[in-house]
Amino acid sequence: MSEIIDLNLVELVQKIKKKELSSKEITKAFVDRSEKSKKLNVYITDNFNEAIKSAENFDSKPNFEKKLPGIPIAVKDLFCTKNLRTTAGSKILNNFVPPYESTVTQNLWDNGAILLGKLNCDEFAMGSSNETSFFGNVQSPIGENLVPGGSSGGSASALAAKLTPVTIGTDTGGSIRQPASFTGTVGLKPTYGSCSRYGIVAFASSLDQAGPMTSNVEDCALLLEVMSSYDLKDSTSVEFKRNNYLQNLNENIKGKKIGIPKEYITDKMPKEIEDLWQNGISYLKESGAEIIDLSLPNTPYALPAYYIVAPAEASSNLARYDGVKYGFRSNGENLIDMYEKTRSEGFGNEVKRRIMIGTYVLSSGYYDAYYLKAQKVRRLIKNDFDEAYKKVDAILTPSTPSSAFKINEKTNDPVSMYLNDIFTVPINLAGLPAISIPAGLDKKGYPLGLQIIGKAFDEQNILNIAYSMQKKIKFKNVINDWWLK
Ligand code: GLN
Repeated sequence: MSEIIDLNLVELVQKIKKKELSSKEITKAFVDRSEKSKKLNVYITDNFNEAIKSAENFDSKPNFEKKLPGIPIAVKDLFCTKNLRTTAGSKILNNFVPPYESTVTQNLWDNGAILLGKLNCDEFAMGSSNETSFFGNVQSPIGENLVPGGSSGGSASALAAKLTPVTIGTDTGGSIRQPASFTGTVGLKPTYGSCSRYGIVAFASSLDQAGPMTSNVEDCALLLEVMSSYDLKDSTSVEFKRNNYLQNLNENIKGKKIGIPKEYITDKMPKEIEDLWQNGISYLKESGAEIIDLSLPNTPYALPAYYIVAPAEASSNLARYDGVKYGFRSNGENLIDMYEKTRSEGFGNEVKRRIMIGTYVLSSGYYDAYYLKAQKVRRLIKNDFDEAYKKVDAILTPSTPSSAFKINEKTNDPVSMYLNDIFTVPINLAGLPAISIPAGLDKKGYPLGLQIIGKAFDEQNILNIAYSMQKKIKFKNVINDWWLK
């Protein structure tokens, strides 16, 4: 029998249901490995003791009707967890213990899952490498001193290192798909409005979405099914019929029309990424899909528009951290002095940079020139996709312009860091669903991902395409447990 930590979510659920494994055995296996993996720095706050107690409780009164019966899951520390510290990777929330639970995590617990702990992330989810976290860098299980990607870096690392069977992240401009791509895992950003944003620490409210991060497409389908729900507590939650994504998973994609957008072919694209994309296209053809060349003409403006819209919303969302309502406070001589000191000491440099950019583009005199213009560009980007989807069922692109880079390699060059999101950001601006699946290795042996972008609320379709490609690609993540040695 393979070891517990090598089993995927669907297998673990089956074993629990057949009483071949108990929740305690499973939970202990992941806790033990997590304890030995401190070097990766994935946990900001662990919940190991409570998790084992919850597993014992589950085993004493098991309910096998649940979709995640007694399954331990660690989550990104951007999801508020009632009575358990939630930091968003920031000093300013270092001592924040929420009195409420996010809807998405509540959905996990209602379906029988058990909280293992809170995972490291970039501060307020701003970053692409997990290096902006107040709680330090996360190491990637792929290699020493390699970034796991970000902002859901702790989640990606914990998943790939088998410290949790599956995990959940959030994606504002790529924070699920880029770390999934860097760590050889699967990550899905659902359509805006599919998963409730209630109780998720806000970064850019019109772009933020929670989504599953898993080791294969089947687990991704199951986890999405549990996470996605209509929620009156989120005014942008959308009421639509949610599928049983796992049950409806279907590898037959014969006749599907898949678009290849020419604007994603950049001059500087490494040969390996180009080859990966070509292989993906061949697999789709072999499966009977039809490949259609397309144009998304406004793609080059997506990144600049994102880096106006996202900081604008962030500057407004982060105004609430003033030393009065939440978390950290630095004492000052008067109220204004207290605000200033609290925010100067509580926020890190990347967050301050975003607050300054955001405040600037929203200020009178610049609002029309920057913010309003960016919103107009955003509409054009969405129109591009609307046009494309008159001709195709889904779109295939690489997930990232490169494989994982070294810790500190890009920290002094924010623009080169921002460029990492070039293939993921347009999808958030258009509110669409997209999944990243591992598709190969580069010459250094680091994973590379392909992204499948769908129509709004068409998650089942991109899961099916991903499922079909997964069967052809047969990707095997090479993890040598370097950090245990
Ligand atoms: N890396 C992007 C940023 O820094 C996206 C982050 C995210 O999706 N949360 O804004």
